[in-house]
Amino acid sequence: MTKRELRQQIRTQKRRLSAVEMAVLSEDICSKVLALASWQEAGTLLLYYPLPDEVDVRMLIKDAFERGKRVLLPVVKGNELELHLYEGEASLKEGAFGIMEPTGPLFAPKHYDEIELAVIPGMAFDSAGHRLGRGKGYYDRLLPNLKAAKLIGICFSFQFLDEVPAEAHDISVCKVIS
Ligand code: ADP
Ligand code: MG
Repeated sequence: MTKRELRQQIRTQKRRLSAVEMAVLSEDICSKVLALASWQEAGTLLLYYPLPDEVDVRMLIKDAFERGKRVLLPVVKGNELELHLYEGEASLKEGAFGIMEPTGPLFAPKHYDEIELAVIPGMAFDSAGHRLGRGKGYYDRLLPNLKAAKLIGICFSFQFLDEVPAEAHDISVCKVIS
């Protein structure tokens, strides 16, 4: 199956899930992340603010923020993702693609080595860590710069597949939680 066909198939499956079902599954996935030693130990993390059809990781954002961890979220700038400091739910504003983005200070690329853990959304992952995104390659361009981060892929279990098509530019994650 091509990447495009696979994205289409996943979108169809996502539409079958109700908001309540997604919330229940999301809570279970977040609990698994909260239990990771790498989560508990990380002081600086990259998370993502979920779209309605993605695993809802707002519980992770809240947990990390309340524990005083440094939480970074992506901001879409043209073809690139910038990282900005999350300073609380009230400081978010809607950005490109309807994604809520932080208005806190820019986290400059020269500091990217300080990021210990990155929680990465995906349309699909496989057990080798191959990741299928939404087709714009944003994370494939960002992730090579996060040299010290443990990359955790996050998806619903129907998005965790035997095999995801991967190209040379695709960046794999270290571990998938579904
Ligand atoms: P996604 O990872 O979002 O599923 P793809 O892997 O299909 O998307 O990549 C989407 C586009 O982004 C492709 O045209 C690819 O060539 C481009 N791309 C991916 N990584 C890079 C990179 N490191 N530099 C430049 N272009 C890239
Ligand atoms: Mg890719």
